[in-house]
Amino acid sequence: MAFDPELDRAPQLLARAARAAGSRPDLTQGGGGNVSVKIGAERMLVKASGAQLKDVTASGGYALVNYGNIRRRIAAGPGGEDEFSDFIRAQALPVRGVLSARPSIETGFHALLNTVVIHTHSVYANILNMSAEGHKLGREMFPAAEFLPYRSPGPQLCSAINDRARASGPQVFFLANHGLAVAHAGVEGALELNERVNDTIRRGLSLPPYPALIPAAGLSARNAACLARYGREFMLENVLSPDQALYCGPADLDGKGGMDAVNEVLTALFYILDCIKVLKFTPRFLAKADIACFDVMKSGRYSRK
Ligand SMILES: [Zn+2]
Repeated sequence: MAFDPELDRAPQLLARAARAAGSRPDLTQGGGGNVSVKIGAERMLVKASGAQLKDVTASGGYALVNYGNIRRRIAAGPGGEDEFSDFIRAQALPVRGVLSARPSIETGFHALLNTVVIHTHSVYANILNMSAEGHKLGREMFPAAEFLPYRSPGPQLCSAINDRARASGPQVFFLANHGLAVAHAGVEGALELNERVNDTIRRGLSLPPYPALIPAAGLSARNAACLARYGREFMLENVLSPDQALYCGPADLDGKGGMDAVNEVLTALFYILDCIKVLKFTPRFLAKADIACFDVMKSGRYSRK
């Protein structure tokens, strides 16, 4: 029998978490970030691939998967990129009245953690995740958190998280050159934990307010000014994150992409780069081999998550 979203509270809880995390451009940009809520021992609701967090409602924008199978698969060795992605997709279950949606590749690590998981591309966490000095400082600020080196957001990242994951209790993961994941037993607890982490970094590093985003047909005035300051070649050659690889190609920097998402991602990148500079930290860019993976993703099955 198909899961009926009207007979369960979980879709509402998922939508609440998604709205809270997804309505802030300092926490998520474009289609980045995802949230999940587990129901019992096997089933989990997770933001659908291609959906934006702020568009998740109780009646759509998510997929239902068997996370028990995903957990067992990762524990046994997730396999290669394509194979693992096909496996995750095959775990989608029907939801009554909701169009079938594809779970994103990041569903894998949600499966490993406590009941509610909020994963964002928080600019505050990413100042620590994208600088040479950040994780050492982060460990002093958050002694109980996990700090993982960069792994491509597929089976490799899932295996790395699996090594440190606890199925219960609050947990915080800093993912180098990527983002933040917090896990908790409930939605309110997860949202509070997420806020506490961001707030601690903001206050601890005395970070400036996040700039307002003004919608523009091409590059926003702020992004155009920052791009002129950092240089187009610099931004094409030095890649801080998967989002930059996927959203900030040559056409995007010319103002010819899906500009809402491009402007959101660029605003985040320039904020992070500016803060790293003011703090006298050293930005840590992705290796060429890591960036090459995204050329395959762009042309293939993933597109922009
Ligand atoms: Zn992510």
